[in-house]
Amino acid sequence: MSSSEDNRREERSLHEECGVFGIYGSDDASNICYYGLHALQHRGQEGCGIVSTEGEELKYIKGPGLVNNVFNEQNLKSLKGKISIGQVLYTNAGGGEVAENIQPIVFHHGTGDFAISYNGKLVNASRLRKYLEDKGSLFLTSSDCELIANLIKKDAAQAHVDRIHSIMEALNMVEGAFAFLIMTGKRIYACRDKHGLKPLSLGRLKDGSWVVASETCAFEVIGADYIRDVEPGEILSIDHHGIRSNHFSSFKHHNMCSMEYIYFARPDSDIDGCNVHTFRKESGKLLYQESHVDADIVIGVPDSSLSAAIGYAEASGIPYEMGLVKSKYVARTFIQPSQSMREKGVRMKLSAVRSIVGGKRVVMVDDSIVRGTTSKRIVRLLKEAGATEVHVRIASPAMTHPCYYGVDTSTEDELISAKLSVEEVRDYIGADSLAFLSTKALMASGNRCEMCMACFDGKYPTDLYQTDEESTLYKRYQKNQK
Ligand code: SF4
Repeated sequence: MSSSEDNRREERSLHEECGVFGIYGSDDASNICYYGLHALQHRGQEGCGIVSTEGEELKYIKGPGLVNNVFNEQNLKSLKGKISIGQVLYTNAGGGEVAENIQPIVFHHGTGDFAISYNGKLVNASRLRKYLEDKGSLFLTSSDCELIANLIKKDAAQAHVDRIHSIMEALNMVEGAFAFLIMTGKRIYACRDKHGLKPLSLGRLKDGSWVVASETCAFEVIGADYIRDVEPGEILSIDHHGIRSNHFSSFKHHNMCSMEYIYFARPDSDIDGCNVHTFRKESGKLLYQESHVDADIVIGVPDSSLSAAIGYAEASGIPYEMGLVKSKYVARTFIQPSQSMREKGVRMKLSAVRSIVGGKRVVMVDDSIVRGTTSKRIVRLLKEAGATEVHVRIASPAMTHPCYYGVDTSTEDELISAKLSVEEVRDYIGADSLAFLSTKALMASGNRCEMCMACFDGKYPTDLYQTDEESTLYKRYQKNQK
């Protein structure tokens, strides 16, 4: 691995998922799609795209970088029509390289072109790829998106087969976590996996246009009302008839990825009916109940830990303070080549406020510990700024298992809690004490009875499937079932 790749992995120890947005029925479709994607930018910053149609041809613009870099007033004008879908990309989520994965991807077919904006990861992709290749399919990319498109196309050559049936059949063959949009010249299909691992919500603008988004924060920005979530195992067809619902599976669970609440989603989003800020604040309260400590101030690591820190402070009565400040203008520091430059990069992103933490016993609330390197640096920052004690409280359980559903949480070898005890992790990061939230309290934070917590407890909600290359995953899965 090159040093810049190494730096990049170390700095970005927990990665966002992708975000999808779609709109049907607006004269301003591509502009609204742009604003929707902008609100979802936190879910992926490596590439983005929008496809629009006036009825037949699907026109698209996409490229690497942020929504603001790829789109401008001029090029958006060329995306005409009342239907648009878009995506912001984080590459590892769908597999493959950035350039080949930037979406939406447009697929050509005799029965009509279609485009896909995808968020997720299939666990049986290699099996299905082999099955299709044996039937003569050729793949240009390694993405799940192309695999799903090929499954949809496989028997759609028979013109009498409605596309919805091809989609339902395809979705019955795939296993894993996904929430994606398919756009044709006439409609949008919004699809969600039967385990409910990925979020997808439906909203409506005042002019009657329908919108679909990975997170409800995108609705606020464009002035849309939240209508409901797309159900696990459901396909919504959105066209001039309005909304029609089909269920491709009667098996259905609400195993939402708990990392959406802990880290990924914006605090102003509601995921599966639960506001993300409210969830995090409650997790902070429960964290205090499970592991209180005498201290002078409570601080949170910006941005995703602030709600939990507020909850911890409220429950404890210890004042909440802004002991760490994040620079708004340093988007990426991972290209810096050396260890010393990397450390400077962390300081560029995050500063300890000496006048607040100096001479104080500090409770530092963070959302998670992945490799431990970032926590170690932040503890050191606080101590160098004069904190007399730093007690680290993590608003999630210890991360001990990798994710197979598109979240790049690292391999098991890189997860510090998979190798070290809590006391050993405490020693490594240099904290005076360390405690994690329990899985029971995490579930209680959202008042939920189901949720994927596999990266904490190893209980994966899907089969992990088996090919030779996946055999280690299967063995681990079986071990976790015991
Ligand atoms: S394994 Fe972890 S990161 Fe992956 S879907 Fe489950 S909770 Fe989310």
